[in-house]
Amino acid sequence: MTLQAERATAASAAGPAPAPAPARPGRPWPRLDALAYGADYNPEQWPEEVWAEDVELMRQAGVNLVSLGIFAWALTEPEPGRFEFGWLDRVLGLLHGAGIGVDLATPTAAPPNWFLAAHPHVRPVTADGVALGGSSRQTYCPHAPEYREACRRIAGALADRYAGHPAVLMWHVHNEYGAPTAECHCPASVEAFRSWLRARYGTLDALNAAWSSTFWGQQYSAWEQLDTPRRTPMADVNPGHRLDFQRFTSDSLLALYTDQRDVIEDRLERAGRADVPVTTNFQLINCKSVDFWAWAREVDVAANDHYLAAERPDNHVELALCADFTRSMGGGAPWLLMEHSTSAVSWQPRNLAKRPGEMRRNSLAHVARGADGAMFFQWRASRGGGEKFHSAMLPHGGTRSRIWREAVALGAELAALREVQGSTTVADAALLWDWESWWALEQVFRPSVDLDFKERQLAYYEQLWRGHVTADLAHPSADLSGYKLVVVPQMYLCRAQWAENLRGYVRGGGTLVVSYFSGVVDEDDAVYLGGYPGALRDILGVSVDEFLPLRADWTVGLAGPALDGSGTGTGTVWAEAVELLGAQSVLSYVDGPAAGGPAVTRHRFGAGTAWYVSSRPDPATLREILRRAAADAGVAFDSETPDTLELVRREAADGTGYLFAINHGDTAVAVPERAVSAPERHEGPGHPPGRADLLTGETFAGPVEVPPGGVRVLRLLKR
Ligand SMILES: [Zn+2]
Repeated sequence: MTLQAERATAASAAGPAPAPAPARPGRPWPRLDALAYGADYNPEQWPEEVWAEDVELMRQAGVNLVSLGIFAWALTEPEPGRFEFGWLDRVLGLLHGAGIGVDLATPTAAPPNWFLAAHPHVRPVTADGVALGGSSRQTYCPHAPEYREACRRIAGALADRYAGHPAVLMWHVHNEYGAPTAECHCPASVEAFRSWLRARYGTLDALNAAWSSTFWGQQYSAWEQLDTPRRTPMADVNPGHRLDFQRFTSDSLLALYTDQRDVIEDRLERAGRADVPVTTNFQLINCKSVDFWAWAREVDVAANDHYLAAERPDNHVELALCADFTRSMGGGAPWLLMEHSTSAVSWQPRNLAKRPGEMRRNSLAHVARGADGAMFFQWRASRGGGEKFHSAMLPHGGTRSRIWREAVALGAELAALREVQGSTTVADAALLWDWESWWALEQVFRPSVDLDFKERQLAYYEQLWRGHVTADLAHPSADLSGYKLVVVPQMYLCRAQWAENLRGYVRGGGTLVVSYFSGVVDEDDAVYLGGYPGALRDILGVSVDEFLPLRADWTVGLAGPALDGSGTGTGTVWAEAVELLGAQSVLSYVDGPAAGGPAVTRHRFGAGTAWYVSSRPDPATLREILRRAAADAGVAFDSETPDTLELVRREAADGTGYLFAINHGDTAVAVPERAVSAPERHEGPGHPPGRADLLTGETFAGPVEVPPGGVRVLRLLKR
């Protein structure tokens, strides 16, 4: 089968949920001999005489890659079919002359005003029937044939001209698919949805069965009766209808990407440059509308845009989750941080500036977790427009600024880390995450408004992070055999084959932790009968008679001598009437609607162990549960090293280890001996003995301390 045919088969709407594969194997990385460093470069916002200064300052900062042309459609194609490439020719020439590579973007996230005026019906329509306006970006309907054709045309014109250009090291399709444009309710979108449903179900009988449409008498007797899920008199449409519309929307956006990707790849092949990667920039984990697992196999390089939640004091934990996720999307291969910010952004309610050193810690945390580069939005801060108060490498104040000095220093440090390029991050554990479950869980009709997919994911991830356990993210159908510990923070929707995957994993000796309200429904959002959680009952050794969601202000006690530590804790949001069917109770409900019953259980299943957590424990209790599960799994869970010290290890093919130690706290912290001791030290030629900090050149024979707010990257040991 050809690659194209494989992709077409994999993307079939009627098929089972995608089994995510790593980004396409054997695909290339941009031709760079160092970690990538740079930014979105928007020279079109400035008079041409500024460009030479831009390039000179880029050299001073150590920039070796810029993303160019992301929002330059109106400039590149000022009227239909007439292209103006002179300015791009000149910018590419300047950059190439300075040895700076280009990640050339297609500008399709910002259709020109002439295009919207000529095709007013391409504007997306909301569930309320409102056609959204222009004078912004992302104004397009994913299903409008004129838009898709115009995208292929501009992508083809750019690739015709620049596929063979020596400065172009990578192609960047569109910008942040799914954020915010996703669904549309226009007539073209309704038609496309009907076609997608026909492909998925074949017959209306099958569709009616999948949607449980006998409920409220919603059976369909003709395809023309099917509509997109608009605003309804009740709180929402049929849950099966809603879930399929979310699947359809994700598939539609992916088709927009592959449309352009195929055009560019065709031109690259013709130009003899098939080694140049093509990708797009994801928005993990804030983009709910796009199932990125399905995208992972369509890109050559996993790339992410990450912005801190500025007001969260511990936002570096969420950063780590996003970084681990992007690495996992690429199957563990090096990935690219396509955008982050040097300091404040301009679109949150209160856009806090980063403190001195914070941008450095952020950047190096991404590198620790497998990024082979760190790039920003954007190079030079805009004077006007919607993001003029968004920080940049070169701020409004110019080179007499803290941010500029930090950007220059970071460039030098990334250059000093050249040898970590290509090494991979080591992870013992995995968290399961899938979009179908997210979509299904957060529908309107459910037991509690407090059920929150991302909140549970982040809560479990955070306690692993604080225990210094590095985790991958994985799809429920992934091969889990390489992980000692697998955590399921939230998997309301569980396909039968996913449950079978987990069954095989635990039976084979794995340790599994499952949180409440998981394994409840199948892919049609239909409940597994015979006691909850129907898909996972046998693995967990429990059966749940009834869900007992809690009032908003309700806290229940959790206690059990079997749990080390204080032996008591609390739960909120959720409780369940749990019956033991082979599992042991580890913590019980002290009070509340499930008083006296098991709250947290542990079950020996085959050669492995499965834990069930039927409430939302306070953070300390959750950490203790995960510590115990990690002990079952043989995973080092370090509760003694302060949880302000982030410890992540990358490993090169020759066994050389790189320990990234990032101190997010206000006091110096010693790197624990277990993290730096192990087999023998690497003392090869050019590698001085002991623990060398690649950032400072210092070597240490004994303990290594990380200063407050500081970072060390230690070249350690050869296994
Ligand atoms: Zn539409």
